[in-house]
Amino acid sequence: MTRARAGTAAAAAAGALRRSGSSAGRGRKRTSPRGGAPAPTPAPPLARHHFSDLAEVEALRKNLLAWYDRCKRDLPWRALAATEPDADRRGYAVWVSEIMLQQTQVATVIDYYNRWMQKWPTLQALAQASLEEVNELWAGLGYYSRGKRLQEAARKVVSELGGHMPRTAEALQKLLPGVGRYTAGAIASISYGQATGVVDGNVIRVLCRLRCIGADSSSPAVIDRLWDMANALVDRSRPGDFNQALMELGATVCVPKAPLCGECPVKQHCRARCRVEKELAFASQKLFGKPAPVPDVENCGVGDCPLCPPATEPWDSSLGVTNFPRKAAKKQPRAMRTATCVLERRGCRGGPEYLIVQRPSSGLLAGLWEFPSLQLAQDLQEKKEREVLADHLQAWMGQPVAAKGLRFIGEVIHIFSHIHQTYVVYSLPLDGDVTLDPASPSRWVTEEEFHASAVSTAMKKVLKAHEKQHRKETSPGKGSKRKRGAKPQGAGSTCPGTQLSLHAFLRAPTAP
Ligand code: SF4
Ligand SMILES: [Zn+2]
Repeated sequence: MTRARAGTAAAAAAGALRRSGSSAGRGRKRTSPRGGAPAPTPAPPLARHHFSDLAEVEALRKNLLAWYDRCKRDLPWRALAATEPDADRRGYAVWVSEIMLQQTQVATVIDYYNRWMQKWPTLQALAQASLEEVNELWAGLGYYSRGKRLQEAARKVVSELGGHMPRTAEALQKLLPGVGRYTAGAIASISYGQATGVVDGNVIRVLCRLRCIGADSSSPAVIDRLWDMANALVDRSRPGDFNQALMELGATVCVPKAPLCGECPVKQHCRARCRVEKELAFASQKLFGKPAPVPDVENCGVGDCPLCPPATEPWDSSLGVTNFPRKAAKKQPRAMRTATCVLERRGCRGGPEYLIVQRPSSGLLAGLWEFPSLQLAQDLQEKKEREVLADHLQAWMGQPVAAKGLRFIGEVIHIFSHIHQTYVVYSLPLDGDVTLDPASPSRWVTEEEFHASAVSTAMKKVLKAHEKQHRKETSPGKGSKRKRGAKPQGAGSTCPGTQLSLHAFLRAPTAP
């Protein structure tokens, strides 16, 4: 496999290393607290946060890569990246994995990835797929716009770039919609051997610990520094493996809550660990009454260092290395309430069928299918909730729906990245068929078809809540206060080809 190399990143990285070292003259002189010989001069303030020693950088690369070769997880996209001889297919294979892995655990992604690559092994195959197919395969992975954008970008590669993936991080980011700096760096380094770094959540954590960076790691200034560091650190001969190794270390060893420092291949380069060890040594020597030098655990820059923890939140010994990284408090997700109605009828094989409708093609959960739903104003009384939902169903079906006929099932909570969504779930069993507006995308599905459709995880939870309530009500001796009405009796056939009366479809309203 031939892999292109970009010389520009190497030059930039050398510059970054030089810049890191350029603050060497800013160290403070220290004398021994006991008044003896001067203590060794500590690293100068900003140099403490950088990799300024080329020999150390070489050692770190070597140790990390050797560990990666020994311990890396066997993942399908890694196998493809290493064995696929076609450069465009290789780039595509890495691209799909990187998009799926955004915000999603590796263990969840593997099955989706394998199914995706089996169904659309090339950019050309993906470009020909429909959005519906993409949404169906993506269902359950979350952040649905990722699949849609991936497909749009694949179409662009096929129609505007002759089916050829751009080969550098800069071109990938510029030309492919939905490909940001991280994804571009990952594709370019892993697929095309470009010596360019990557910064994702795992890399942020590892670098912040390696170099005691305690300033807000989500701030643009700190992120810029981390990109400089990643570009400086990346191994020139194995950039893709090095980037994956750094991320692998963050995912399996330098984990957020209880990092396995004892097993860490770069522990000797880690300043957070060094700080913890000094504190421990000091504490144990003190315990045994031995004189010990005060550990050098001060922040550098005495309050004005842009990378040290803020003076208001100094190092906390009880946290050890997990002092790093630090983030500004997250904004609370917005609270939303949505009424949703499981409309149920008996299918031609006797089992239940549910009505699902399609969401608009833009916005949250674009193009996915759901039970008819309506966003509610906050603090609405239950009676009013029923009324607005009944109105919504009525407007949608052109048929009166009595609010009292809606049976309350329960509330289902689902957290999207920025929204705390509460679904207020109702059900409405139907006695007959209904003629739906052909202009509104909607369809009846069995339970199996529902799960195979492009429905969100939230809607799967809604159906589960509905089924649970149904089981409660139908199991002997376990009546529920929210008693379901009698099962649809004498329901007309709903087999394909049979059209029933619009006027007879609603059951007589039953009290909730
Ligand atoms: S020594 Fe510990 S904190 Fe430092 S990089 Fe390794 S696992 Fe992370
Ligand atoms: Zn500092």
